[in-house]
Amino acid sequence: MFDSSLRGQSYTGLMLHRSLSLRLLPTALAAAALGCVLAQSQAACAWGNEGHRLINRLAAETLPASLPAFLRSDTAIKEIEYLGPEPDRWRSRGEPQLSAAQAPEHFIDLEPADALGPLPRNRLDFEAKVFASGQRPEKIGLQPWEATEVWERLKAALREYRSLAAAGQDTRPVEEVAIFYAGWLGHYVGDASQPLHTTIQYNGWTGPNPNGYTTAHQIHYQFEGPFVAANEHEPEVKAKMTELKTIDGDIFDSYVAYLRHTNSYVEKVYQLEKAGGFAGAGTAESREFTAERLAAGASMLRDMIVTAWVESAKPVPDPYAGK
Ligand SMILES: [Zn+2]
Repeated sequence: MFDSSLRGQSYTGLMLHRSLSLRLLPTALAAAALGCVLAQSQAACAWGNEGHRLINRLAAETLPASLPAFLRSDTAIKEIEYLGPEPDRWRSRGEPQLSAAQAPEHFIDLEPADALGPLPRNRLDFEAKVFASGQRPEKIGLQPWEATEVWERLKAALREYRSLAAAGQDTRPVEEVAIFYAGWLGHYVGDASQPLHTTIQYNGWTGPNPNGYTTAHQIHYQFEGPFVAANEHEPEVKAKMTELKTIDGDIFDSYVAYLRHTNSYVEKVYQLEKAGGFAGAGTAESREFTAERLAAGASMLRDMIVTAWVESAKPVPDPYAGK
């Protein structure tokens, strides 16, 4: 009843029905408390409101002094934090076309994606491959393409900022745009640190199950929603952030490597759940693990913003060079 064909917009209604049932009422109340409107699916609230805000806030707060002051201002930090859950606000039944089109951008099931061969760098090439295999992109997901494209928007805005600043013109409008892109980007980078956003095992184990992992359709939301909101706090997550680094080489390849690292923890999430790790206060191990995952998202977002700034200084390749 909850297969991947229900993963996009079409299962929103189903989850609304489930979330309003008496059995799940406490879950529904928890979702409301997290700011996830009931019209959203459970999986729509990846990391929940609290987790996404925390990831974005930590990334913004830890941007280095080498970046322009406008990106590090209190106003920017507040705006970037607010934008953490922004794409989840686009999953309402009130905006059905938007909801359907962008739902696949929050996840990628790497198993069926990899079965089609190397991931193409461009979204449309991947979609063509998926259609040619008789499948639909919304069932497999478009995570790395959306994240790369939003990063490129940020880089383009920062290049524009540099050029306006160099010409002595007003940079205020482009500053607002760059802050928006940085915050918007944070949502996807945050989703991609959640192992259950990278796998067909996204909400209950499917297929052979020798270790007896949960098959109930609860684990996804339980892990990223109420558990995070109740147990994860800024100081512990911040302490687990990695050293600042500029991303070398191709951004798409680096981002996919980040997704694959996240994916290596899928079974770990199920092991922790089996040990009661996401009920109530969980366990010391589950709290540590979750803090590390949130910190991985915040670190990657910070590094991607810094890299966009560095890359925005490079001249755009001349399409006529050598012709
Ligand atoms: Zn999401």
